[in-house]
Amino acid sequence: MTKKKFYITTSIAYTNALPHAGFSLELIQADVMARYHRLLGKDVFFLTGTDEHGAKVAKAAKEENKNPKEFCDEISAKFKALKKILNLSNDDFIRTTDQKRHWPAVKKAWLKLKENGDIYKKQYKGLYCSGCEAFITRKDLIDGKCAIHKREPEIIKEENYFFRLSKYSKEIEKIIGKDKIKIIPKSRKNEILNFIKQGLDDISFSRPRKDLKWGISVPNDENQTIYVWGEALLNYISALGYAENSERFKKFWPVDVHCVGKDILKFHGAIWPGMLLSLGLELPKTIFVHGFITVGGQKMSKSLGNIVDPFELVKKYGTDPVRYFLLREIPSVEDGDFTYKKFEQRYNSDLASGLGNLVARVITLAERLKIKNQKLKTQIKNFTPLDNFISNGASKIKIEIDKTRKECHCLLNEFKFNEALAVIWELISFCDQYIENERPWEKSKKQPSVIYDLLVALANIASMLQPFLSETAKEIFNQLGIKSIDEKRGFKIYPPKSRSLLRRGWTWRVKKGKSLFPRI
Ligand SMILES: [Zn+2]
Repeated sequence: MTKKKFYITTSIAYTNALPHAGFSLELIQADVMARYHRLLGKDVFFLTGTDEHGAKVAKAAKEENKNPKEFCDEISAKFKALKKILNLSNDDFIRTTDQKRHWPAVKKAWLKLKENGDIYKKQYKGLYCSGCEAFITRKDLIDGKCAIHKREPEIIKEENYFFRLSKYSKEIEKIIGKDKIKIIPKSRKNEILNFIKQGLDDISFSRPRKDLKWGISVPNDENQTIYVWGEALLNYISALGYAENSERFKKFWPVDVHCVGKDILKFHGAIWPGMLLSLGLELPKTIFVHGFITVGGQKMSKSLGNIVDPFELVKKYGTDPVRYFLLREIPSVEDGDFTYKKFEQRYNSDLASGLGNLVARVITLAERLKIKNQKLKTQIKNFTPLDNFISNGASKIKIEIDKTRKECHCLLNEFKFNEALAVIWELISFCDQYIENERPWEKSKKQPSVIYDLLVALANIASMLQPFLSETAKEIFNQLGIKSIDEKRGFKIYPPKSRSLLRRGWTWRVKKGKSLFPRI
C-alpha cells in the first residue's frame, strides 16, 4: 500500500532583514502540521526557504557595502539556522538564487505562460509602492496611501511584461467561493473573495533591467528582469523539481497546505491560482493564514527597535518554551501579543507548575511504588489496558483522555494550535485534581492502579505533545521508560490496545530524570 502524501510550505522569507519572531511563528505552525501528519503515517514534505531577489534586497546589501549575493548568503544562512534552534523538521530549504533548481523552473514556467498567451508586453503607467515592491491599484489605497506601507505610491511609466490575470478572474472567484482552495480562516476567505469580486487586473511580471538588476532575467529578453512575485511563488514547485518534472514533483504536487501571513494572502489567493491555471497545474488544497505578533501592543518593526530575535529568545528560555509560547499565546489566525512578562508568566504557570510539575509528581510516585514493589512490571501486566478500563474510578480518567485525544485531532485539523494546547492542558489539570482526590501517596489497595492511570495519562499527554514540543515529549517518554515505542509508531499508539503490546515493551521502567522546566 502506498502511503498518503502531505506537502506543506511556509512562505519564503524575504532576505532584506534578519529573521524575527513573526516568521518563526509561521515556521513553527507549519512544523506542527508536518510532524502531526508524519505521525498519522503520511509521507510528508515540508518546505521553507528564502526569497532573495528584488530592489529592496539590493538596497539593503548596498547599505552594508556588500554585493547582493554575499548579503543574501549571510541572511539566508540565518534563516536556515532557525531549523536547529526552533527544532524544525523541514525536509528542504529553497533559495530563489538557486540557479540549479529555482531558475530553470522559473524559465520553464515563464515560457509556458507565454506560450498560452498569458504574458504580453505593454507600455505601462501606474502606481508603484516601493514598500510592496509592486504596482498597486487604487483599490489598494487608503487616503491615497498604500494600505500596508502607509506611504504614497510613485507614478512610474515603463515598458513591462504583464500576466493576463484578468482572464482567470471569474474562475478564481468560483474556486475560492466553492472552497476548491480552502482558505482558513473564513474571515480571510471573505476578504480575498471580496477583492477578487471587484475583478482582477493584469499584473506586471517584469521590470526594466536598469531598474531591477538583482533578479532573474526574462527568457529571451535580457533587458527585462522577472519581478519578484512572478518568480518567488514558483519556489513551491521549483523545490520539488518542476523543471525536470521529477518523481518528487509528481508525487507531492498539489500542495496540501500553504502557510502564509495575512499580508500576502492576495498573492497566494489570487495571483498564484491564476498562474497555476495557466500552467495547467493542480491548485493548492488549503491556504492557512496566520496573524501577526505585536510587541506590547505595537507592530514589530525595525524602526521601533522592538524586533524580537528568535535566537536570543531560544538562548534565554530554550526551544520548547519558545515553541509553546508562540503556539499557545498567539491565537493561530489572529494577531497576538508578545512581552517578556507574558512569556515568563506562561512559562511558570503552564510549563513549570503545570506540565513539569505533573511529570515530576507522577514519576516520583511510580518510582516509590517500584522500590516498594520490585515486581511492578509483572503487576502492570495484570492491569486492564486503558481501552477496557471500567472500575476504580478509572473510567473517569479514560473518558477524559479519550475526549482530549479526539478534540486534539479535530483542533489540529482546523489549525487551532492554541486551542489544541489548551485542551491538553485541561487534561494536565484533570490529572492534578485526580491526584488530589485519589491520594496515591497513601498505601492502599487502589494505589497501584491509580498510579498506573496517571502513567497512562502522562504517556497520552506526551504523545499528543509530539507535534508541538517533540523534545519534551521525548523526555517524558524517557522518564516513563517507554523506549521501544518510538515516534515512528505514530500518533495513535497510546493507549496500548492490547495486552500483547504491554508484553512487547510497554513496561513502566520509570526513571526520574531532570526537571523539565525549572521555574524562572
Ligand atoms: Zn506598499
